[in-house]
Amino acid sequence: MNYLCRMLENKNQSRTPLSELGEFKLIDHLTKNALKHHKSTLKGVGDDCAVIDNSGLQTLVTTDFLVEGVHFDLSYVPLKHLGYKAVMVNLSDIYAMNGTARQITVSIAVSNRFPLEAIEELYEGIHLACNTYNVDLVGGDTSSSTKGLLISITAIGVVDPEKCVYRSGAGANDLLVVTGDLGAAYLGLQVLEREKQVFQVNPNANHELDNYTYLVERQLKPEARKDVVKLFDDLKVKPTSMIDISDGLSSEVLHLCKQSKTGCQLYEDKIPLDQQVISTCEEFNLDSTTIALSGGEDYELLFTVKQEDYPKIKGNPNFSVIGHMTQDEGIVELVTRGGQKVPVTAQGWNALN
Ligand code: ADP
Ligand code: MG
Repeated sequence: MNYLCRMLENKNQSRTPLSELGEFKLIDHLTKNALKHHKSTLKGVGDDCAVIDNSGLQTLVTTDFLVEGVHFDLSYVPLKHLGYKAVMVNLSDIYAMNGTARQITVSIAVSNRFPLEAIEELYEGIHLACNTYNVDLVGGDTSSSTKGLLISITAIGVVDPEKCVYRSGAGANDLLVVTGDLGAAYLGLQVLEREKQVFQVNPNANHELDNYTYLVERQLKPEARKDVVKLFDDLKVKPTSMIDISDGLSSEVLHLCKQSKTGCQLYEDKIPLDQQVISTCEEFNLDSTTIALSGGEDYELLFTVKQEDYPKIKGNPNFSVIGHMTQDEGIVELVTRGGQKVPVTAQGWNALN
C-alpha cells in the first residue's frame, strides 16, 4: 500500500499556491479536461448555469456534502480517492432510484493549506469517476475556506417514469435483496485508523495491509452500482422499493419499512460477507453481523421484489435474498442463526465510533 505510506509521510512534491492562479484561472484549469458524454448537456461549465435537456424523462437531483475532519481524514485518504468517492456517493443515490446519472456539479471550499497540486489530485479522481461512469462535469462553485477542505457534489440524472423506484413501494411478502457484500468499507476504515495510530507512535513502522486489501479498497475506492440498474433492465425486473446502503443495512431496512409501511424479517445467515470481513472480524474481536448491520459506506443497493420475480434473480451472483417484508408495520426483526428474533434498531455507522 504505497499510497498509504506516502500519505502518512505527507511527502508533497511541488506546491503552487492557489493565490497564484486566482479563482477564474483555477476553475478553467480544473475543468478544461472535462469531457462531454451526453447530448442532454447543452451547456456545461462557463455560463451562469448549465443547461440540460431531459426531454421526456423525469429528472433526478441529489446532493451530498463532505467536510474534512467530519467525513474524511486526509492523513490516510489520498485526494484522488476522495474525489472519486465524492462522486460515487452521489451517483449511488441516482442508481438507487433505478436511474441513469448524466451530470454533476462540484463545489469546493479550500483553505490556503492546499496548493494547486492537491486540488489537481482531487479533480483527477473526479474526472476519472466521470469518465468511468459516463457523467459530465457541468459546473460548480469555488471558494476559499478558513479551515480545511469542503466538497459538495450534486448529481443530476434521468429515469423513465415507468421505471422510477421509490423507498415507499414495498409490499408484504416482497423479498428483501441486497447486492454485493456488506461490512468491508467500515472494516477498511478501522484498518486505516489503526495504521494511522501505529504511524503516530512509530513513523518508521511497516504498514502491513496485505491481508486487508479488499477492505481498504472498499473504503477508499467504492464503486456505485450502475451495473445493477442495467441488470434490472436486462432481467426485466423492477424492484418495488430501493435504497442505497450508505449508513448500514439496519438503518436502510428501517427506512424501507417506514416509508413502505411494512415490517421485515431479516435472516442473519443470509447476510453476504466477504471472507476478509469474516477473518478480520475474528482478528479484531468484532461480530460480523453487527458490522454488516451498522457498518455503512458499502454503497450497495438494497431493494425489494415481488415473490413472482424470484426466478429472475435466483442464482445471480450479484444478489442475495436476505429476508422478506411483512404486513406488521414497524416490526423489523433479525432472525439469528440460533432462530431467535431480535429487533433491528437504527444504528448508523457513527454509533460504532
Ligand atoms: P458565478 O459567478 O456565476 O457563480 P463562477 O465564476 O463561480 O460563476 O463559475 C464560472 C463557471 O465555472 C460556472 O459555469 C460554474 O458552474 C463553473 N465552476 C465554478 N467552480 C467550479 C468547480 N469547482 N468545478 C467545476 N466547475 C466550476
Ligand atoms: Mg460561483
